[in-house]
Amino acid sequence: MMRRVYNFGAGPAILPVPVLQQASQGVLEIGSSGMSILEISHRSKEYEAIHFGTAERLLRVLGLDADDYDVLFLGGGASLQFAMLPMNFLNGGVADYVHTGEWSGKAMKEARHFGSVNVAASSEEGNFSFIPKDLKLTPGAKYLHITTNNTIEGTEWPELPACTVPLVADASSDILARKLDYSRFTLLYAGAQKNLGPAGVTLVVVRKSFVQEAASDLPAMLSYRVHAKAGSLYNTPPVVAIYIVGLVLAWIEEQGGVGALEAVNRQKAQAVYEALDEFPDVYEPTVKAKEDRSIMNVTFRLRDTSREQEFLQGAADRQMVGLKGHRSVGGFRASMYNAFPLEGALALADYLREFARKGK
Ligand code: PMP
Repeated sequence: MMRRVYNFGAGPAILPVPVLQQASQGVLEIGSSGMSILEISHRSKEYEAIHFGTAERLLRVLGLDADDYDVLFLGGGASLQFAMLPMNFLNGGVADYVHTGEWSGKAMKEARHFGSVNVAASSEEGNFSFIPKDLKLTPGAKYLHITTNNTIEGTEWPELPACTVPLVADASSDILARKLDYSRFTLLYAGAQKNLGPAGVTLVVVRKSFVQEAASDLPAMLSYRVHAKAGSLYNTPPVVAIYIVGLVLAWIEEQGGVGALEAVNRQKAQAVYEALDEFPDVYEPTVKAKEDRSIMNVTFRLRDTSREQEFLQGAADRQMVGLKGHRSVGGFRASMYNAFPLEGALALADYLREFARKGK
């Protein structure tokens, strides 16, 4: 039908082929409306069914109760949530943040506009190559913020930290990739463009009781209360992105849910880490603490940096793209989100071995 490369890109990222096929049909006509999903009103019956159906499905896949949680579909990316969260909840108080990488740094920077940030722990001195587990929490903090998976540095929290204050997470790069007790989160947010769909919509899943505590004197578009009350239809939502998130969620359910995806995600990551660990004189995996290694973003360097171009070219010759590390850290990164096929991970593992042997 079309040419498909192995897309290791960190986001926007690979989507399941059946979703692309359904979406292309939806671009022609949605349901029997006689209109494209690109053309239809966000106030139409057809769209409302998609909109609320997607929210309901998301909670079901996360294992959360619709009586307890609201789902918001917002614009502005996860980056807007860095500011919106403290704007709604900090109110001059203190929040605890765990600093595990570039994105948590940006989240803290935005929070400081609205109150005090206590850095409960940081792995900055170790180049963010591990997840700090010993947290200095503030009694009475408004919330504790973590980044469940650090997309750039390639670490993930193996277990959620214990805390008594509301736990808040940036789950942009591992939402629905592994089984977590999502009810531990009072609020979580995620840009859709990795595990959930295309760029353009950010999902916020928040306890209804927490929304009641949000500031009430904010500009409407920045207020969780306003969006929650309006069911994310206060203004025109990112209709097309939400539609595709709905298709991805249906695909996840067809695969057997998060547990089934996690099993494959672990196989993919293990295949690549094993190949890297076999050749320590050729590759340096940037995350040494094995329990903290991300199953979504595998980060590594070549010991001999003069071979970087050769490595990328060889990968491209094998239809593997998107392996360059984030521009802030260099090196390489293989992102293997839910839709990334196991055979692609096995192909990369083969290539890593072949490349390492060639250099000897
Ligand atoms: N948080 C994490 C963990 C991310 O990986 C990213 C983007 N890659 C962001 C936040 C920023 O997301 P956005 O571009 O949607 O603002």
